[in-house]
Amino acid sequence: MEKVTIIGGGIAGLTAAETIRKSNSEVKISIITDEEYYPYSRIKLSKYINSYINFEDLYIHKQSWYEDMNINIITSRSVEKINSSSKEVTLDNGDVLSYNRLIIASGGYNFIPPFPNVNLKGVFSVRNIHDIKQIQGHIKENQVKKVGIIGGGLLGIEAAWGLKSSGDFNISIIETAPRLLPRQLDEEGSLILEKLINDNGITVYKGDGVKEISGEGLVSGIELNSGTMVEAELVIVSTGIRSNLSLAKDIDIPVNRGIVVDKYMKTNNEDIFAAGDCAEYNGMVYGIWPVATEQGKIAGLNAIGIREGYKEIVPSNMLQVMGINVFSTGDISEGSSVIKYDNGLYTKLFIKDNSICGAILIGDTKKGFALKKAIEEKRDFSREISENINLLSII
Ligand SMILES: Cc1cc2nc3c(=O)[nH]c(=O)nc-3n(C[C@H](O)[C@H](O)[C@H](O)COP(=O)(O)OP(=O)(O)OC[C@H]3O[C@@H](n4cnc5c(N)ncnc54)[C@H](O)[C@@H]3O)c2cc1C
Repeated sequence: MEKVTIIGGGIAGLTAAETIRKSNSEVKISIITDEEYYPYSRIKLSKYINSYINFEDLYIHKQSWYEDMNINIITSRSVEKINSSSKEVTLDNGDVLSYNRLIIASGGYNFIPPFPNVNLKGVFSVRNIHDIKQIQGHIKENQVKKVGIIGGGLLGIEAAWGLKSSGDFNISIIETAPRLLPRQLDEEGSLILEKLINDNGITVYKGDGVKEISGEGLVSGIELNSGTMVEAELVIVSTGIRSNLSLAKDIDIPVNRGIVVDKYMKTNNEDIFAAGDCAEYNGMVYGIWPVATEQGKIAGLNAIGIREGYKEIVPSNMLQVMGINVFSTGDISEGSSVIKYDNGLYTKLFIKDNSICGAILIGDTKKGFALKKAIEEKRDFSREISENINLLSII
């Protein structure tokens, strides 16, 4: 019987397994995850940063689902080695699993810049449930009140809001760029978000970097390049991710920023596929949930011989912070014309060649996914634009 072995129980690995099972009831599927939990919604983690986590609420499927689907899931075990000649993987307890097709869905890890004193107690990042538990323990043990968040991207802001909405914390966000969310928002949108953040009592330091983390044994603050001293009993570093590539480096498959795959999510080895935050397609590692899901699906189909190519999806981000929704999708770079609408707090569409190429919605984000679809379909709005018709009313 054919065997597909999947390394990693994130959304890419899980979607691959689910997709395979939908098309084929025979193939033997194993997922190996080094986490002690069943696949869960990583994107909800920031919400629980200082709150009780009921794992059932985070799990994508109940434990019984894996039995019903006949998917063998091995938790708390890491794959240490891939042997592509014998088509086997070796786990950290010495167990060996064979495969006909292997899907590497090992995801990413948080990149922590080598700031001086970054190893002090009280410096964390958020990637998994284990990190959340560590942070919660530290908050309790040290009665933390002052928090410094390094990185004003989506995850840094989410972590700030997760803390702010769950306790009386004095929070500072430090961002080296001159504004918040530079990849998701334009300047005006960034300023609106920053005001919302400030209005909620969170201090933002922009255009300033970290010189060093200070403390003795235990963190006490962050010294910025400008000389400003930010007091912090807890520091959360949120400065981007890197792909987990260690397994791929041991075998002869090309690796760049991620494991290089073709449109079938196949590496240069006919029997090895990769998907999600560990995979690089067309020079890109997106590091976002919808891409990992879609790539997992494509890897799963092709691993059982159903030839389907990955179609790049338009990236989108939704942030729910300070009681406000912020949505951004597509290309919001300069060079396109813009249409602003008096809708929500801020609504801006970016237009290229009479089609919408990007959008930012703050406040009222109801049209977000319809806009994303219009971008994907490259819908032509030349008539509506020339007749000054409100595009939001017709999509
Ligand atoms: C706090 C947080 C919030 C986020 N919010 C959003 C959001 O709002 N929107 C969005 O689009 N994206 C968001 N993301 C990013 C999104 O979660 C990821 O893009 C997505 O989870 C990637 O899925 P994946 O399956 O590729 O990898 P992962 O989710 O990283 O899963 C990989 C799994 O493989 C395991 N693994 C690695 N190596 C091995 C090994 N050798 N053996 C066994 N197991 C191994 C890892 O421990 C992990 O469990 C967020 C991420 C975080 C951390």
